[in-house]
This record gives sequence, C-alpha cells and structure tokens, in this order.
Amino acid sequence: MTEVRQVIIVGSGPAGLTAAIYAARAQLTPLVIEGEPSSTSDQPGGQLMLTTEVENYPGFVNGIMGPELMHTFREQAARFGAEYVTAKVSKVDLSSRPFGLWTDDPDAPEPAYTAEALIVATGARSLMLNLPNEERLIGYGVSTCATCDGFFFRDRDIAVVGGGDSALEEALFLTRFARTVTIIHRRGELRASKVMQQRAFANTKINFRWNTVVTDVIGDSTVQSLVLRDTDTDEESSLEGAGLFVAIGHEPNTSLFKGQLELEENGYIRTFGGTQTNVDGVFACGDVQDHEYRQAITAAGSGCMAAIDVERWLDGLAGPH
Ligand code: NAP
Repeated sequence: MTEVRQVIIVGSGPAGLTAAIYAARAQLTPLVIEGEPSSTSDQPGGQLMLTTEVENYPGFVNGIMGPELMHTFREQAARFGAEYVTAKVSKVDLSSRPFGLWTDDPDAPEPAYTAEALIVATGARSLMLNLPNEERLIGYGVSTCATCDGFFFRDRDIAVVGGGDSALEEALFLTRFARTVTIIHRRGELRASKVMQQRAFANTKINFRWNTVVTDVIGDSTVQSLVLRDTDTDEESSLEGAGLFVAIGHEPNTSLFKGQLELEENGYIRTFGGTQTNVDGVFACGDVQDHEYRQAITAAGSGCMAAIDVERWLDGLAGPH
C-alpha cells in the first residue's frame, strides 16, 4: 500500500535533518527516508558518521563527535514530529505530482510513498583509494577534509593524495599545522590550476612524490605510515607520517535522479533561487547541490532554506488565505 505524505526528505545528514527540524516545526510532519546502515558515508547521518571530533560546528565549545552531533539532530527533529524510515530509496518518479518513491523493489507497480513536495538531501561522497586499511582508519589519521581535521595534526608529517585543485588546496591549508606535507601524485604533472601549482611549489613545507601511488596505510589504532609504489620502477617504499588526506575528488549521490532532475556538468543537482530544482515541488540542499563549501554548517543552512522554500511553495499551492 502506498503511503501518502505531504513532504518527504531523502537523506539524513546535516542538510536533511535540518530540513526535517524546520519542516516539522512548520507542522508539515515530514517523513525522512534516512538510508540504511553501512560502513561507508552512505548511511543514516551521512559523512559525519565517519568523522571523530567536529570542532568547527558552532555551539560546541569543546567540540562534539560527528555521530553524536547527528544523533542530536535526529532527536531534535523527532521531538517536533519528524518521522523516520530506515530504508534506501531505490527509485523515484518525478514526472508528475504527487511524486512516487520506491524503497524496496524498484519494479514494484506502486511506489512505497508519494509526496506533494520532495527535499533531496542525499549528499556526496569523497572518492577513496580503496586501500585495504583505509576505511578502518577513517577518523584515525585518514581524512577527506583538511578544514575539518587539519588542526589535529600540529607539527606532524602528513601526506595528501591527488594532483588537482582540491589536493593542493588541502595541502596548502595543512601547512598551517603540519611540519611537512607530502603531495603524492600518480603522474609526473599536476592537474591543478597554474596559480595553485605556483603557491604549492613556493611553499617550503610542501614536497612532492611524483609518479607514486599509495598501496596501503599502516597503523593499529592510528596512521603510522604509508606504503608507496613508484609507478615507473614498481619499487615499494614506506613513508612515515601521522596522516593521510585523500583529495582525489567527490561524487554527488545523484544516481537516483539522473534523467529526472537537471544536473550541473560536474553531476551536482542544479538549484535556482534558493533550493528549487528544475522540477516544481522538488528542492535540493546540502552537498548534493554544493561542490564548493561542503561543510556541515553550510549543509545545515541549506537544509533550513529548503524547508522554508517547501513551506512557501505548499502555501502557494493552497492559494490565498
Ligand atoms: P580533480 O580535478 O578531478 O582531480 C582529482 C585528482 O586526483 C587528479 O589529479 C587525479 O589524478 C587524482 N586521482 C583521481 N583518482 C585517483 C586515484 N584513484 N588514485 C590516485 N589519484 C587519483 O578533482 P578536484 O581536485 O577535487 O577538483 C574538482 C573540481 O573542483 C575541479 O574542477 C577543480 O578545479 C575544482 N576545484 C577548485 C578549487 C579552487 O579553485 N580553489 C578548489 C578545489 C576544487 P590525474 O591528474 O592523474 O587524473
């Protein structure tokens, strides 16, 4: 049987749950389809579930653990009437309203839910190197966010993998804290813009390992060293260090919406005048539509915007009071 809802939020990171708090307080009783537990960032709570301490989220003088922060977001929205279903959306039909959402069998004739308005907050994920010990050490020396975690590496030797603007930006930021930053790049030439290259080459804390790939990260409870392989000679070596920052790009979680929502060239959802997508009644917030800032606080802010946009849009449907 299809469950009929006014507002459905897909995704439960900072954007989705902030949208849930605002929509619940607007008495829209939102249903949050929060995802399913997994060992990657594609799980209820999103990317913060893979971090340890969060020190840059305003309001927490002494910081807070990522999973605890997301737990409080979830409870806060529930307190105002947000409802949750622990499932992954397997298909959406945005061709007409109410929109259809399937959670199990995507070939089932009827959707599991329909919604008058939809908030897409499915986030993004960092591309990872898929090293044997990488996932286990995320939050314990392996990181995908220098802004978030750089502070924990004062006077340490750290490595950044990648040769694009993100890698150089992360590396330059990390020089504020680290003793040395080694950029490990699989080719002999950077992809990053010339201006970023110049800055990185001019920074005395940064050195480069060219034509090199990381084949594993070593450490029991925290990162101790990396195993490297020279792609020209196949020679293996070890690099001592306390941190591995993976900066090889991000991918928005938009596969559900391909062909239905307009995407930017880089795959992120295109939004207009706030959080509206090209489909009337579908709104997008957080990292799924932001490839620029990617912070918990900016995602939360755009979740708030999406809920306000939905509320106004529903008011408009209802006509003049
Ligand atoms: P990107 O430009 O796609 O660069 C990714 C880098 O990671 C490339 O150097 C690539 O190597 C390397 N890489 C990819 N997969 C790898 C793997 N499995 N193992 C090892 N290395 C791997 O991604 P990005 O740096 O995140 O940038 C994305 C976009 O955002 C770009 O358009 C960029 O200009 C923009 N951006 C701009 C700024 C800024 O202007 N301040 C900051 C950040 C990002 P290859 O070079 O060999 O392919």
